[in-house]
Amino acid sequence: MAVGLPERAVAATVGDPAVPRTAPVKPANRVQDVWPGVAHDAIALTIDDGPHPRWTPQVLELLRQNGIRATFSLIGVQAHAYPDLVKRILAEGHDICNHSMTHPQPFNRAAPDTIRRQITDAQSAIVDAGGVPPKLFRAPGGDWSTTVLSIVEDLGMIPIGWDVDPRDWSRPGTSLVTSRLLAARPGDILLCHDGGGDRAQTIESLRTVLPELKSRGLEFVTL
Ligand SMILES: [Zn+2]
Repeated sequence: MAVGLPERAVAATVGDPAVPRTAPVKPANRVQDVWPGVAHDAIALTIDDGPHPRWTPQVLELLRQNGIRATFSLIGVQAHAYPDLVKRILAEGHDICNHSMTHPQPFNRAAPDTIRRQITDAQSAIVDAGGVPPKLFRAPGGDWSTTVLSIVEDLGMIPIGWDVDPRDWSRPGTSLVTSRLLAARPGDILLCHDGGGDRAQTIESLRTVLPELKSRGLEFVTL
């Protein structure tokens, strides 16, 4: 987010009796879905599945070097295990997103009570780790359904998707991750990972991609 922006689009409806409480039919896949008034050249980087003691500090260092803010989708058990990283992410100006307690998949096949518990447990774990309660939720694996979206809406949270997926988690090679990320356009939400396995390819790609996208005049915003 940036100073002077209007309220987030979806959050603006929460608690407003004048607005029907109908769940969104899809997650926010573009920056403008979250921030309708944002500049055309805005772009958002999301970093999922951490925090992780090996990879998260490397991502944070690259973001610092490039003066870029990102949104970290935290898994509750990881936040519980590495509270110092949760606090560091926030202290360095980034935003955080709830990414469930244990990252079960397929998430949208879980029972409604389980889905709700996964989100609320992660919220507690993140707060216990010294974080603020996230307003954002991203379903593990991007496994959305009307049930998942309804529960997220009921909890007053914003469902966050993506529209650029380099599939870095599958380790397709640094050059492929890089070229997929460099295909980003204004308004895109980019997906990368700092947990869930060896993220060396992701780190090397971001080393190239972040300064290149900045040089195109794209402005990185948090969600
Ligand atoms: Zn994930």
